[in-house]
Amino acid sequence: MNSILDSLSLYCPICGSGLLTSGHCKNRDCYYLLPDTNSIDISFKSQGIAKALSNICNYKFSFDNVECQSMESFIQSLRTPDVNLQEEICSMTGLFSYNIRTMLPDWRNSQKVYWRGIEIDRHSDEYSTLLYNAYYELYSQSAIFKYALDLTKDKGYSLIHTIGCHDRTLTLLSPNEFIGHLNHLRGC
Ligand SMILES: [Zn+2]
Repeated sequence: MNSILDSLSLYCPICGSGLLTSGHCKNRDCYYLLPDTNSIDISFKSQGIAKALSNICNYKFSFDNVECQSMESFIQSLRTPDVNLQEEICSMTGLFSYNIRTMLPDWRNSQKVYWRGIEIDRHSDEYSTLLYNAYYELYSQSAIFKYALDLTKDKGYSLIHTIGCHDRTLTLLSPNEFIGHLNHLRGC
């Protein structure tokens, strides 16, 4: 990865725009836009690589033979026991699935979710493994997501997520779980 960056030192390896003398991309929408801090606070409302690692960004991947448009749509799909509806939710864009989440079944009373018709306890190892396996497929199948995540490791950034709910009885993915999966993928 470093050799690619070195050979493209004048131009952004992602979008081809020129780089600033700091090495950051001039294009404000580019994934290669790196923050000046030691950490990257992942948020869809952010810019550059901090946005690129958001679950809401669309990176197609296939998981258990289900086509997913984004990690967000996969996670929102876990609310329903209906296999057909689940596949439909997975095929939605990340932002659309996020916006319709309150119309989907509420898992909070039962603390149970579903994948391919199988009931899973939100607080089980099985659930944690399911989420990690989905992230692994995203990482393996999306070159741009993998590039963005690997770049954070190559550049020595720590990952943080300062928004979101920490109560696991109220959220399907807490900030600590989210960052934990990403750190696991990038070998930190
Ligand atoms: Zn760029």
